[in-house]
Amino acid sequence: MSDAIVVLNAGSSSLKFCVFDVGHDPGLVARGQIEGLGTSPKFKARNKQGEALADSAVTSPTGKVGHTEAFAHLANWVRAQYAGEYRAVAIGHRMAHGGLKYSQATLITPEVMGELEQLIPLVPLHQPHNIAGVKAVLQLRPDLPQVACFDTAFHRNRPTVSERFALPNELFEQGVRRWGFHGLSYQSISSQLQTIAPELREGRVIVAHLGSGASMCAMLGGRSVDTTMSFSALDGLPMGTRCGALDPGVILYLLGRGMTAAQIETLLYKKSGLLGISGVSNDVRDLLASKEPLAAVAIEYFVYRIIREIGALTAVLGGLDGLVFTAGVGENSQVIRQRVCAGLGWLSINIDESANQKGRGCISPPGASPQVWVIPTDEESVIAAQTLEVTLYAAPTTGSPK
Ligand code: ADP
Repeated sequence: MSDAIVVLNAGSSSLKFCVFDVGHDPGLVARGQIEGLGTSPKFKARNKQGEALADSAVTSPTGKVGHTEAFAHLANWVRAQYAGEYRAVAIGHRMAHGGLKYSQATLITPEVMGELEQLIPLVPLHQPHNIAGVKAVLQLRPDLPQVACFDTAFHRNRPTVSERFALPNELFEQGVRRWGFHGLSYQSISSQLQTIAPELREGRVIVAHLGSGASMCAMLGGRSVDTTMSFSALDGLPMGTRCGALDPGVILYLLGRGMTAAQIETLLYKKSGLLGISGVSNDVRDLLASKEPLAAVAIEYFVYRIIREIGALTAVLGGLDGLVFTAGVGENSQVIRQRVCAGLGWLSINIDESANQKGRGCISPPGASPQVWVIPTDEESVIAAQTLEVTLYAAPTTGSPK
C-alpha cells in the first residue's frame, strides 16, 4: 500500500481536493470537488487522465451537508476507491492568510489554529472556510497530520516599502498592509521556471495570474518583490466580479449615500469587475463573443489595467527579462495575451502568433528579450510538496522517512 497526501481547498460552498501519491514526486492520482455545500451538493472526481471516477449527489443522515459531512464523504470515497492501494498519511490545506509569522507552510497544532483564527478579520471571506476544512478533518481523523499552506507566504520578506500604505504606522503594525495573495500559484511558476528556464528565473520576471481572481507578481530571482493584490483580494487588476484598484473615496461616497458595509462588500466582491462593467458576464469567453458594446469596454479596461500594472512592476524591477501568463484566462486566451503584448511594444515585447495560438511554453520568438511564456499553474502540487516537506521534517524520529 502506498502513502497518499490529500490536498484540500475549502471555499464557502465547495470543497476541492486532490489525492497525490507520495512515492511519485508527488504524483497526482485524482482530483475533484464537492460543490453546492449548504444547498444541493454534488461530488465529482477524475483520475489524472481526466476520466470520470465519480459524479453523484452527496447526502447525509442528518440532511445537512457542510464541510464536516463533505469531508466524511470524501474520506469514505478515497477509502473505497483506493482500498489496498493508498492510505492517507497527511492533509495539506490551502490557507488564505499566514499573517506576519508564516512565510512557510506549517504543521497545524492547537496553537497554530488559534493564530489562524485570529487572522479571520483580515480575510473574512476565505479564512473561515479554510479553517472549517481543518476542523472537519480533526473531527474525523484527529490522527492525521495537517499542514497549512499559505497564499500570503510567497510575498513575505519583500521590501517593506512595497508592503506599506501611506497610513499611520500603527495601522501597518496592526496588519493593515499590502500582504499579497495567489502565492501558491506564484510559487508554482517560480518552481517550474527553475526547471524549464533557470536563467530567466534568476532575472526580472512578471507573472500575470489571470483567472476569475487576477493579480500580478514582480519576481527577482524567483522571489516576490511586489504584487498587485494587497490588503484584500480586491486590489489591483479588475477581475471576474471584483473591482480591482479603487479610490477609497468611492467607498466613503457610497457610505454617505446610505449603502451598508455589507452591501458595499457584495458590490465590490460580487457585482463589479468584468461583470459590473459589462452587465453581461464575468467570463472572458462570453465577453469576447458578445456583441454588447459594454462587453468590449470590459475587455478593454481589463487589458488596459494589465498593461498599466506591467509598466509599474517593470519600473519596480528596473527592467524586464520575462513575462509569464498563467491561470484560466492567461493559459487559455490567445486574444487577451495578444492584446496585452500588443500594448507592450515600448518594452520590446514581441510574440510569435503561431506559438501564441498553441499557448504553451515560450511564445516569444527565439532569442527575443523579454521572453514571453505561457505556463499552467499547479497550486495543488505546491501544496502537496509543501505538506510532504513539513510532515517529513515533523515526523517522529522513530522509523524510516516515508
Ligand atoms: P479561479 O481558479 O480563480 O476560479 P481559473 O484560473 O480557473 O479561476 O480561471 C477561470 C476563468 O478562466 C473563467 O472565469 C474564464 O473567464 C477564464 N477562461 C477559461 N477558459 C478560457 C478561454 N478559453 N478563454 C478565455 N477565458 C477563459
